[in-house]
Amino acid sequence: MNIEISQIANLPSKFGNFKVKSFKEPYQNGYREHLVIYKENLETIPIVRVHSECLTGDALGSLKCDCGEQLEYALELAEKTNGMVIYLRQEGRNIGLLNKINAYALQDEGLDTVEANHQLGFAADERTYEIVTYILHHFNISKIKLLTNNPDKINSISDVEIVQRVPIIMKPNSHNAGYLDTKKNQMGHLLEEE
Ligand SMILES: [Zn+2]
Repeated sequence: MNIEISQIANLPSKFGNFKVKSFKEPYQNGYREHLVIYKENLETIPIVRVHSECLTGDALGSLKCDCGEQLEYALELAEKTNGMVIYLRQEGRNIGLLNKINAYALQDEGLDTVEANHQLGFAADERTYEIVTYILHHFNISKIKLLTNNPDKINSISDVEIVQRVPIIMKPNSHNAGYLDTKKNQMGHLLEEE
């Protein structure tokens, strides 16, 4: 993979003081610029969150999904446990922002998130995770504890040993309860408290 890697910079944030490093990945006809947010004194086997971009949830406080809350939780936990958040620029489960908004419009008409994606000609989930292995190897990390409810994510990260799955459970609200049900019942997410 011909990946361009940035310098390391400081990112003081309301969650704590982090280091950041960006990875520019050639993708289709362009590229995707990912961001790794991590503590300088990383644990040997760190808790790692792999978060896929969700502009509406991460930046706008959308209540249609749980992404924003999950991201905040992951950053808080990274600060507490000397962990890492890998922020992947694959908006809308990798169908892009414009298509995601079209999917939302279909959801406004009553389709669920999976049906809406299918109607637009996409799979329920188009995300890929090869770059995660590349990034972890770059940091000389061979074992992680993965912060996720998504068993598919465990299987899609190769050549890195996942010694533990750490659940990330957010309380549903009236807007995202249906979405979370679809994730649990149709996409195999493990959303029970453990
Ligand atoms: Zn979201």
